[in-house]
Amino acid sequence: MVSYPDWLEDSSGQFKADILAFGPHPDDVELNIGGILALHSLQHKVVVVDLTAGEMSSNGTCEERRQESQKAAKILGLTVRRNLYLPDGGLRAEADEQQKRVVAAIRYYQPEIVLLPFWEDRHPDHAAASKLIDICLFKSGLKKYRTISDLQPYRPAKWYYYFQHHYGDPDLVVDISEMYQKKVDAINAYQSQFRDSDNFKTFINQPVFLRKVLARDEYFGGMVGVSYGEGLVYKLPMKVKNLL
Ligand SMILES: [Zn+2]
Repeated sequence: MVSYPDWLEDSSGQFKADILAFGPHPDDVELNIGGILALHSLQHKVVVVDLTAGEMSSNGTCEERRQESQKAAKILGLTVRRNLYLPDGGLRAEADEQQKRVVAAIRYYQPEIVLLPFWEDRHPDHAAASKLIDICLFKSGLKKYRTISDLQPYRPAKWYYYFQHHYGDPDLVVDISEMYQKKVDAINAYQSQFRDSDNFKTFINQPVFLRKVLARDEYFGGMVGVSYGEGLVYKLPMKVKNLL
């Protein structure tokens, strides 16, 4: 028996999203596609669904992280941000209960485009999230795969993977130069995670961690001749109707 978060059972909050971005933990989307989310939020419906509440974090409580993630959502201009409350540190691509919730989220928002983590990463949850969402993008389109009964089968037109700790050559780079301050402000909303003064010392609250993120954005931007860029990759060939 799968128990869904309340919002998945409340159809009054349902609408068709242009972009649905999944993050393994609150703060992952800000770090890696904060600029893309801010940019598209200017004119489109952008939804973020965090898979977990971050309860395994060395610093910060779930409530602090919830407040930080809502503050960051406001800075980015997201239409809505939700959480699936899957187990932090326990994401499993093959777990049926987890698949059902992710498929329900895809069917609930019926996005044109899904953004999900790259398939390799130092954090086991990030790699597992990539595989889990991959499976769910397929299953979401199957008529006989059931989640909540009134959610209809749906498969988005496109999905792109965003880099986290590991990265390779991007297939496309989005110019986020004008959104850069918003991205930095959204990251800084997570004081429990990135403040290093009185917190337990972690990999991510040392200044070098954020410098690496910003250096990557500058590097990707430089690849296409702009100040800052966020890179994406895809696995399936991209369909175009006409090269012009
Ligand atoms: Zn994470």
